[in-house]
Amino acid sequence: MLKKILIGSVGAIALFVAILIGRTMALPGANGAAVTLTPPQVDAAAAAERLGAAIRIETVSWGDREIDAAAFSAFAAFLERAYPAAHAAMTRETVNGHSLLYRWKGAGDAPPVGFIAHIDVVPVEPGSESGWTHPAFSGAVADGAIWGRGAMDNKGQLIAMMEAAERLAASGFRPSSDIYFLFGHDEEIGGRAGAGEIRKRLDAQGVHFAFTLDEGSGLGRGLIPGVATPAALIATAEKGATSLKFTAHAEGGHSSAPGADTAISLVSRAIVEASDNPFPPKIDADMAAFLVAIAPDMPFMQRLLLANLWLTKPIVAGALTKDRTTAAALRTTTAPTLIDGGVKVNVLPQTASAVINYRIHPRDSVAGVTERARRQAAKYGVEVESLGGAEPSPQSSTSSAAYKAIAEATIAVFGPVTVAPFLTLQGTDSRHYVGAADDNYRFTPFVYEPDDLKRIHGTDERLKIDDLAYAIAWYEALIRKTAS
Ligand SMILES: [Zn+2]
Repeated sequence: MLKKILIGSVGAIALFVAILIGRTMALPGANGAAVTLTPPQVDAAAAAERLGAAIRIETVSWGDREIDAAAFSAFAAFLERAYPAAHAAMTRETVNGHSLLYRWKGAGDAPPVGFIAHIDVVPVEPGSESGWTHPAFSGAVADGAIWGRGAMDNKGQLIAMMEAAERLAASGFRPSSDIYFLFGHDEEIGGRAGAGEIRKRLDAQGVHFAFTLDEGSGLGRGLIPGVATPAALIATAEKGATSLKFTAHAEGGHSSAPGADTAISLVSRAIVEASDNPFPPKIDADMAAFLVAIAPDMPFMQRLLLANLWLTKPIVAGALTKDRTTAAALRTTTAPTLIDGGVKVNVLPQTASAVINYRIHPRDSVAGVTERARRQAAKYGVEVESLGGAEPSPQSSTSSAAYKAIAEATIAVFGPVTVAPFLTLQGTDSRHYVGAADDNYRFTPFVYEPDDLKRIHGTDERLKIDDLAYAIAWYEALIRKTAS
């Protein structure tokens, strides 16, 4: 009897192991086949000079003070001078003073496509100016790169789009469907005055896109430990956000005779309650597709885990939450960012408050996050008040013709890279185009290495000239694929 059970369970285990290994082996081979790419046939040096010129126009979104309107007008005039063929082929409307809405009329009446970028840049942090290898608004072309604020975020992308349009227009290309370029002027402070107003204009004109494409992700190289092949991460959704203010009330009086709690200890308990009970990390369909796509490049054990997500999801999710970036992709994040309370060392505070900033995963909602926080805070009699929020975006399709075209253009230009869906962790102008398109994708065709990420909004922002050249070729390839 015992022998039978033993044989039976050994057999079951053997079958189980066979399934695990079988699924692992069924994954495609490593993605990083050695391929010599033909560098794109574009005049990269001239394009680099034009990006440098774009960077020298200081289109800064300050947030706390007025923008330099003359700089934004100068930027619009610069585009017109730099891209004559594109401007002859397209019409351009100025929206709300500084945003630009281009339309390239197509020959047919298939749904239009929308390419989104933003004109504004973040300021240079006061005191950090001397840390730049080349001054932040020099637009210097040196050491194989174009240097300055906006080189990556987002003038590099905007200029790559215009370069592609210019090349296409100069070659006599006529799109089969309408192409729009949607350049907002205040993305860095929420985009309401720019993209928000462009959206209203489009709605009034009855424009509905097959898809829009914006910043918010890109090609990562060396960003995922163990994965050497660049991974083209096409973001299909973007997180939402909300900030909640926790306020505690308690009796005041002299600190020599305190009760069990003061307003400060109460609000602290509520914040700790929220921090200690974060949203559970989960691997949803797009994250699973991402993990399966990068698996072939992984060592055997990781490959085994990723090939068998049906079984290993909790283990993999646990491992991914150890890194704060991948953790953020799996859950709604909880970040206490402000605290305020007390007036004097010997006075019991009657109120104390703190703010938690949540970045909301597409599976959650502003209302759900608020409700959960209220329950946590209620244990300590702490009130929760909403300081406003933005819902996460809907999930765009990974099986649409547009997603396929983006993937194909990427492989055509960059070689056999891994293509996988991803989630944008920050806010982009795309939030203003939800509902204006069947799908909203976020992908910039630049190669980002770990060292690049800190340059965005930071010191020494720069774009390699090669990256600009590939991006121009990529936009050209995508436009040809989707509108001819
Ligand atoms: Zn940006």
